[in-house]
Amino acid sequence: MAEETDILVAGAGPVGLALALALTRRGVAVRVLEKREALSAASRASTFHPPTLDALAELGVLAPLLPGGVRVDRILWRQVETGAATTLDLGMLAAETGHPFRWHREQQDVTPALLAALPPGCVRFRAGVTGLAQDEAGVTLHAADGSTHRARYAVGCDGASGTLRGLAGIGVEGSDYAHRVLRILTPRDLRKVVPGLDGLGYLYDATGSCSLLRMPEVWRLIFRIPPEMTEAEAMEPAHVRGRIGRFLPGHQNLEIAGQDVYGVKRAMATSYCAGRVLLAGDAAHLTNTRGGMNMNAGIHDAMTLAATLGKVLEGGPDRLLQDWAAARLRVVRDALLPRSEGRVAADPAAEVARMAALTPDQALVWAREASMLDMARVGAPG
Ligand SMILES: Cc1cc2nc3c(=O)[nH]c(=O)nc-3n(C[C@H](O)[C@H](O)[C@H](O)COP(=O)(O)OP(=O)(O)OC[C@H]3O[C@@H](n4cnc5c(N)ncnc54)[C@H](O)[C@@H]3O)c2cc1C
Repeated sequence: MAEETDILVAGAGPVGLALALALTRRGVAVRVLEKREALSAASRASTFHPPTLDALAELGVLAPLLPGGVRVDRILWRQVETGAATTLDLGMLAAETGHPFRWHREQQDVTPALLAALPPGCVRFRAGVTGLAQDEAGVTLHAADGSTHRARYAVGCDGASGTLRGLAGIGVEGSDYAHRVLRILTPRDLRKVVPGLDGLGYLYDATGSCSLLRMPEVWRLIFRIPPEMTEAEAMEPAHVRGRIGRFLPGHQNLEIAGQDVYGVKRAMATSYCAGRVLLAGDAAHLTNTRGGMNMNAGIHDAMTLAATLGKVLEGGPDRLLQDWAAARLRVVRDALLPRSEGRVAADPAAEVARMAALTPDQALVWAREASMLDMARVGAPG
């Protein structure tokens, strides 16, 4: 016998949990089916952009979390050889968002707050989705614990593996990016090492770049590694120390609290919906970690979808969901993918001069786009 609810969500990552909470706040009954036995504790996203902070505040979870993260008001670009530098103050976005700053906090420190805000029993762990059936009136999901669930709609927030996407017959176009990423963690306060650094810095030399992100306990140093280099070669102390020394001259021996190499994939579902199944988050799009946008875009998918589902459940036309799906697909194709891929700087050392030359209006456009303010609400019902 199927257990009934209004909306079923596959996956209790940040996107599935945000969607479930946004629906719950609208009085919609939701059940989340999660494959794992507990929330993921993997270190992944670090960056929460202004519209995502606005969303978390709207969901009522941000205020107690904020003091535990790092508020970043200023971004630094610095050329290593000459010391030429420029900064951009995100405060210029104050007219457009209640949170005109980036906030750095581990993704896995935020998901428990979303879970805690949901009604007890809303998330069922060890219940990965294994089967799907759809008809005119609703959708039925089968879960690995033997349970069966029935709802008006189901949403696949089950990450890159996209089980529900596959069961619904939605295709995906994807490829691996050529480069991988070397991530080094240090407890050293890099504000004392790099002049002008607040919580985010892009350092350039003639041959490449390095990003510095301040997290609550450590700094992340992010380097691209070329396709021909093996993971073992990238992790070798001589290579790691050499990379650090190139961008932080004189500090190649700074304390290292951790290091890893990860690959980055590009993928886009061919549609955000098939019948009564919809997609959000990594199940619908994957991109480079540059700019820290993919989880943020997934939470924007969730917020706009919750608003749309709310209208449909109140009697609005089903077409609103197809409009939402088309709008979010356009955001991925036209903004998220190109922006997080970026152009490869022909002359990395000229990047600082390029940023320094922006007029105030150009800087505002750059800040809006880097903060995703122009794409977050696309697809929300009018
Ligand atoms: C190193 C790294 C750094 C990153 N940095 C950033 C950043 O700074 N900013 C940013 O925006 N993004 C960043 N990202 C991307 C971000 O981590 C993902 O976009 C985000 O986790 C996507 O959330 P999600 O809920 O869609 O999917 P996931 O977090 O993958 O969650 C999916 C959930 O579904 C569950 N599941 C899987 N299969 C099933 C099934 N069959 N049934 C039920 N449940 C299932 C999984 O167990 C999981 O709990 C980074 C990623 C990496 C790897």
